[in-house]
Amino acid sequence: MDRTVARLRTVLLSQVPRLSSTAVGRPCRMSTAAAQVSHEPSVPSSSPAHFDHRRERDGHQILRDAVAAQAPRHDWTREEISAIYYQPLMELAYQAANLHRRFHKPSEVQLCTLMNIKTGGCSEDCSYCAQSTRHQKGTGLEAKKVESVESVLAAARVARDKGSTRFCMGAAWRDMRGRKNALKNIKAMVAGVRELGMESCVTLGMIDAEQAKELKSAGLTAYNHNVDTSREFYPSIISTRTYDERLTTLGHVRDAGINVCSGGILGLGETSEDRIGLLLTVSTLPSHPESFPVNALVPIKGTPLGDRPPVEFTSMLRTIATARILMPSTIIRIAAGRKTMSEEKQALCFMAGANAIFTGEKMLTTECNGWDEDSAMFGRWGLEPMGSFRKSPMPENGDMRVASF
Ligand code: SF4
Repeated sequence: MDRTVARLRTVLLSQVPRLSSTAVGRPCRMSTAAAQVSHEPSVPSSSPAHFDHRRERDGHQILRDAVAAQAPRHDWTREEISAIYYQPLMELAYQAANLHRRFHKPSEVQLCTLMNIKTGGCSEDCSYCAQSTRHQKGTGLEAKKVESVESVLAAARVARDKGSTRFCMGAAWRDMRGRKNALKNIKAMVAGVRELGMESCVTLGMIDAEQAKELKSAGLTAYNHNVDTSREFYPSIISTRTYDERLTTLGHVRDAGINVCSGGILGLGETSEDRIGLLLTVSTLPSHPESFPVNALVPIKGTPLGDRPPVEFTSMLRTIATARILMPSTIIRIAAGRKTMSEEKQALCFMAGANAIFTGEKMLTTECNGWDEDSAMFGRWGLEPMGSFRKSPMPENGDMRVASF
């Protein structure tokens, strides 16, 4: 009898490290400073005393329920998102991949080209951005005038001929107040892009309800306005406009019937909790964004964040996989920073639910992977470009159509 108990004890103890490594959903036991430096998700101690079977079971159940969902949910809690986010990464990526296959054709990746139609001279103070006048001294970036309609459409034509199906036009403005003439030209650009058979997207800063309606009438497909990070961390990055102002603009876009494109930037110095906060914001909007760009900060010398170390790839993957599970029908876009990711890392992101990229010559002021490079990568990994208008606008609530691939 004693020998049996001793053997059982030995077997149980031998399981502890393995079991502990799968525990989920608990706050980090590392010091906050250490967690911020490493950017690693919070993981519990492997000490048997800290192992909590009930919480592990709860975390797995939350993940299982999320993956089985037939309709989008807009009532996620921070605790549920934490439980999903802190799952063992391979399990999280695997479950996200499963869900991705139920809502999307897994080989399809949308190709989007972003053009800066008005460079620099922005009055905002976003700490990561080279286009802010506040950082101009350090970056040396010169402000330029708005591009002509003709030159924008010429660039859109090149992008279309190279295989892009969405063309996004970005202007470094705080908002569109008093820019009547500019709005008229942008509407002409939007209409011209649509005539090329492409989806059109703009990012122009804050807009009001009327401006959103005008853009919709010109045929705009999507409006990009990132929330960037969590509500709590946001004031450390931007002081010239509030988080709520950003959400108000998203409301105007949504009410006008334009698809919302809104995402975040990783590597700003945020913690895992801030990444969870970002996911909480977007996944509890009245309807999920049609597109969720995940940017890895490209530090630009002369900006306040010019010396930030790169975000860990595991944080990027974890954010993409969690976003896929929370917002199953959304297009998840690998945005800035892709240039520094190996093909294998990108493939893992596609596996875990990313299904859009920016491709072309430049991404605003930073380098971008080009069409030929991406085409070769698609060939090697069996990926294919998503056709134009493959995604229909999201239903307001529920009634999600499940792809049958
Ligand atoms: S991110 Fe946009 S709003 Fe912020 S400074 Fe740059 S151009 Fe201006």
